[in-house]
Amino acid sequence: MKNLKIAIQKSGRLNEKSVQLLKNCGLDFENYKSSLITTVNNFNLEILFLRDDDIPGYVAQGIADLGIVGENVIDESQEKVTYLERLGFGRCTLKIGIPKDSDIQQLQDLQGKAIATTYPNILQEFLAEHNLSAEIQQISGSVEIAPGLGLSDAICDIVSTGGTLKSNGLKPFADVRRSEAILIGREGLTENPILCELLQRVRSVLRAKETKYVVLNVEKSNLPQITSLLPGVKSPTVVPLAEEGWVAVHTVIPEDDFWDKINKLKAAGAQGIVVMPIEKIIL
Ligand code: ATP
Ligand code: MG
Repeated sequence: MKNLKIAIQKSGRLNEKSVQLLKNCGLDFENYKSSLITTVNNFNLEILFLRDDDIPGYVAQGIADLGIVGENVIDESQEKVTYLERLGFGRCTLKIGIPKDSDIQQLQDLQGKAIATTYPNILQEFLAEHNLSAEIQQISGSVEIAPGLGLSDAICDIVSTGGTLKSNGLKPFADVRRSEAILIGREGLTENPILCELLQRVRSVLRAKETKYVVLNVEKSNLPQITSLLPGVKSPTVVPLAEEGWVAVHTVIPEDDFWDKINKLKAAGAQGIVVMPIEKIIL
């Protein structure tokens, strides 16, 4: 069967986590920093290492079948690609920032103002949604210094902690859109068996990341109370302990309400709670 090609970022914020995700899917490959293409030894896949801005275009044109890239970059590119899975890393927000002493107070105050950005298409869409028109100054980097230099009244850029804004005398003003890394595919690919296998692996890795494996000991008389707290993948596994009247309960707990669950389990008589990471969950 013909190999599929997946494009990932060559270096930058998404590179490491993209490589790690593919490795966690059981793919064996050399992550040569110097080569732009590598073949996976145990799966019908080749990996292309590209600038992130080029990934949506490569996928839309079918040069790569798949790609891992930030939603912000997909939207800005305006390329037609299929979203296959949200990957939960590379989270950030595209925001409008204004000088600390700016007289801009509400969105309407942006009307007619100059806004510097590397995301002109997303910004234009945002302005149109709010019936605003502004002068979009497209620049290719170091956006935060634009207001200080008198190029613009505001900026639109990716913000995670706000540190860069602050050190340039700016403050966040409005959220334009949130973003995370997405697995994308070219149109018409969805029936491909290699993709189906890869997607199953990706999903099992993502599911595992959101859950923990928990083993706890409990007196048999408290077991009904404990099991009522545990939905588990099916139902919990209950194993007798050497000590008469005690059992060990094995189960899987979602990360998001983890501490709340653990406290309830303790209150219901759970002891010796051991928590372990899960590598994969295959349904
Ligand atoms: P390339 O050389 O591949 O063009 P880049 O410099 O354009 O890389 P990076 O800074 O490596 O891009 O960011 C890649 C992606 O990571 C962004 O497009 C965005 O989706 C995501 N990201 C997550 N957090 C941040 C952040 N704090 N700042 C910038 N990007 C972030
Ligand atoms: Mg880039």
